[in-house]
Amino acid sequence: MGIIKKLDSIIIDRIAAGEVIERPSSVVKELIENSLDAKAKKIHISTYEGGIQKIIVRDDGEGILTEDLPIAIEKHTTSKVSTIEDIQTIQSFGFRGEALSSIASVSYLEIQTKHKHETIGNQLISRGGKILSLKPYPIHNGTKVIVEDLFFSTPARKKFLKSNSIEDRYILRNIIKLSLSNYDVEFLYTRDDKEILQLLPVEFYNLTERFNAIFEDSFSELLLPVYFQENQITIKGWIGKPRLERKITDRQFLYFNKRPVEIRNFSYIIKSAYGDLLPENVSPIYILFFEIPPQNIDVNVHPAKKEIRIFQEKEIYDYTIQAIKKTLLPKVPISIAENELKTEPDITLKKKPSSILFPIETLYANQTIFYLQETSDPYTIYDHEEKQLKKSFLPLQFIGIIFGTYIIASSEDQLYLIDQHTAHERINYEKFKKSIEKNGISSQHLLSPMIIDFSLEEVEEINQYKHIIEKYGFCFHFVSKTSIVLTEIPTFLEIGEEREIFLKLIYKIIKGIEPLPLYEEYIAMKACKASFRKNDYLTEKTIQQLLIELSKCEEPSRCPHGRPTMLTISKDRLDYLFYRTGFKKKS
Ligand code: ADP
Ligand code: MG
Repeated sequence: MGIIKKLDSIIIDRIAAGEVIERPSSVVKELIENSLDAKAKKIHISTYEGGIQKIIVRDDGEGILTEDLPIAIEKHTTSKVSTIEDIQTIQSFGFRGEALSSIASVSYLEIQTKHKHETIGNQLISRGGKILSLKPYPIHNGTKVIVEDLFFSTPARKKFLKSNSIEDRYILRNIIKLSLSNYDVEFLYTRDDKEILQLLPVEFYNLTERFNAIFEDSFSELLLPVYFQENQITIKGWIGKPRLERKITDRQFLYFNKRPVEIRNFSYIIKSAYGDLLPENVSPIYILFFEIPPQNIDVNVHPAKKEIRIFQEKEIYDYTIQAIKKTLLPKVPISIAENELKTEPDITLKKKPSSILFPIETLYANQTIFYLQETSDPYTIYDHEEKQLKKSFLPLQFIGIIFGTYIIASSEDQLYLIDQHTAHERINYEKFKKSIEKNGISSQHLLSPMIIDFSLEEVEEINQYKHIIEKYGFCFHFVSKTSIVLTEIPTFLEIGEEREIFLKLIYKIIKGIEPLPLYEEYIAMKACKASFRKNDYLTEKTIQQLLIELSKCEEPSRCPHGRPTMLTISKDRLDYLFYRTGFKKKS
């Protein structure tokens, strides 16, 4: 007799439920998503004993029709899609029709619901997926789902749960995640009858208020707003200011069309955009919302819909890096009077893109206000300001040097403090970069060719991308199955550094990450090494030359690593500070 037999349908359901409902926080997530899909404006979540004893999610959404209620807890039943094409353009959180049935099969489930078009509601009680009772029930519009004794039917799963307090943390994390992309919905979270979170609806640009309510009061002060748009892709949100020394790892939130997702390596990509602006062992903070045509992502790759597949992955990564760099490296110089921003927010927005007081969506809400344009296209204005800056930048009158490092200079209407090191770095960087742009990446022969070993798998990839690698100035051939000999390297590389850069280049090309920034980073590093240092004595003539060359730079106000090269304060502002005029103007 054969030994293969079909599993009992109850066992099948319980195995399948494990994929969707891993722990109490998965229940909370699925129920909140259902409430959001039902267009709820207010969601109240209560949990008891880590959610294992009881979870209640109550919403004021559309409710479930009487005839739909018993069907809703069956397997693969959904009101959100009916054809396979629907999934490709899905806007709702749910579409797999698995959550309620999975939850039902592993718990005592009660649903009280009243559809907005019906006069009386209903109550359904089930145990392990079997309906015990279904009857009319008085309830206001909306739905209340009560899940008790989770995993009673799957003791093995229950054994893997952690302590109540850890499960509570997972639950909180899931609530936070969904509350950040659904800022227009009110969330109330009570845990063992204690209020943990109350989040009132906010506009997108006031999401920082929600951050502060969730994390700590001053959290938003650590953030810079991001806005980027290209090719039907919008990236908006916030990232941590440069030089944050705090090691916070739980402040990374990523959304695609409002759906919280995880993308491996994403934190690495963001970190690479910061370059030197973030210390080695610090993780970047980001809360980023991508808006992208739904057909360009596949959300149906993970049972709990945590992961997605992106069809324009490389483009998305490139745009992310560009968006972050533009945020971190605004072209306008920083005002010396920067610290006053908080007390006088009225005119902060005009010149201060790096402040949290620079909300994003206000900006496209009302285009008539001058600074509002900054967010719809923040960079046009920077360009405009930069031109102004350049105009007033020369002739700069050199006044002196203080503390062995800072050049004091003035133009007709601005006072400048210029850091001799970062300024020189900017000049050298642009010189190197221009020479590459002009002459391309030319190669130099290695006097003694270098052998590098790889694994078989790597060799295959290197073979596949050989023509691209060669475009970046490296020439090599295979000398055995797993080793190559490097014969030519880019001219601007210093001997001794070719191996590391070659390996990094291959890594980037294989991962589909634009390789040029690697060279830019290298050039920036080289520019830094070749630049005047603090306390280097410079003659007046050298300084004059430095100022002239700086004024010719594309981005004179930042060094290639993003540190400022100069601070400015305007004559008007000085007049104001010295009470010479009532005219209130910043920088
Ligand atoms: P999915 O969300 O993938 O459609 P679920 O099992 O989570 O599948 O829910 C099944 C169906 O039950 C949904 O499609 C929806 O019609 C209905 N439903 C579930 N929760 C709610 C709710 N809170 N309010 C209104 N309808 C709901
Ligand atoms: Mg659902």
